Amino acid sequence: MKVAFLGLGDIGALMASHLARDPFDLVVWNRTASKADDFAREHRARVAPTPAEAVRDAQVVITCLPSSVEVEAVLHGENGMLGSLRKGAVLIDCTSGDPPTSRSIAAELGGRGVEFIDAPVSGGTTAAKAGTLTVMWGGAESVFERVRPVVEAFGKKIVHAGPVGSGDALKAVNNALLAVHILSAAEGLAVLVKAGVDPKVALEVINASSGRSNTSENLIPQRVLTRAFPRTFRLALLEKDIGIAAVMAEDLGARTPLISLTAERFHEAREKLGEKADHVEAVKMVEEENGVEIK
Ligand code: NDP
Repeated sequence: MKVAFLGLGDIGALMASHLARDPFDLVVWNRTASKADDFAREHRARVAPTPAEAVRDAQVVITCLPSSVEVEAVLHGENGMLGSLRKGAVLIDCTSGDPPTSRSIAAELGGRGVEFIDAPVSGGTTAAKAGTLTVMWGGAESVFERVRPVVEAFGKKIVHAGPVGSGDALKAVNNALLAVHILSAAEGLAVLVKAGVDPKVALEVINASSGRSNTSENLIPQRVLTRAFPRTFRLALLEKDIGIAAVMAEDLGARTPLISLTAERFHEAREKLGEKADHVEAVKMVEEENGVEIK
């Protein structure tokens, strides 16, 4: 099966690595060409010079870009995919994108005989490396069944969320919850440090009690207490996700003050910490504001 993969970032490169083997015939493209060259040195893949060349023969195309804005750019920009996608091809967009843009891309491609599925992933770089990502997809069952083996190469829990755009919607809300958990755990622990409670002791209790979350069980012990703060998922991308959730809520007339406030706080965190900071580094903003370190 001829597969094209566009976007070899932190998670994209790890996902693509599972497609660099039989029964797949993989072509990769990345904006910074040296990353695609490095990938092809380590894996069985060919490098395409442009998005148009990458997708020319592909039956399945995967995009994994920061947001739907970049997906649109790679589709419509100079040497973009649009003119070269084969009739009958399926574009699986693994970007954590936004539902309205995904719906409009699906409609445009549909008019050209190309199918579209939004298929954002969760599980981070650890699950991407292991090929055990959770994939939440939106689109038609009959289309997905044609590309299921490709998604199964990097996904373990694969869930149909609904029509096109539903995968994006679910992903945005999941990540909004992650953002809320990071800030609420950081605030709670900062208060406890001020109250003289050792954060390790606090987490021992919280993680055996109802206040626990993935943030308290894994992210804070492994990344904050150790002061390691590894860079695996950029804060800027989480800010984008919670922004998508906030806009979606507004469009639907939902009242979500907690999501709106968390979106504002992640915006502040991005301004303070910059484009390269990891999402868990948002904790540093709360620490600084409170004059404590959670360690
Ligand atoms: P990165 O920021 O590490 O990589 C982004 C990729 O997009 C790079 O290949 C980059 O190319 C490319 N890119 C950026 N801007 C453009 C552009 N204008 N035109 C073409 N290509 C562009 O992101 P991740 O790999 O971490 O994330 C990709 C998607 O997956 C995002 O939607 C993210 O929210 C989601 N995600 C990420 C997770 C993670 O743990 N990292 C977990 C779950 C979902 P270049 O190399 O040239 O910069």
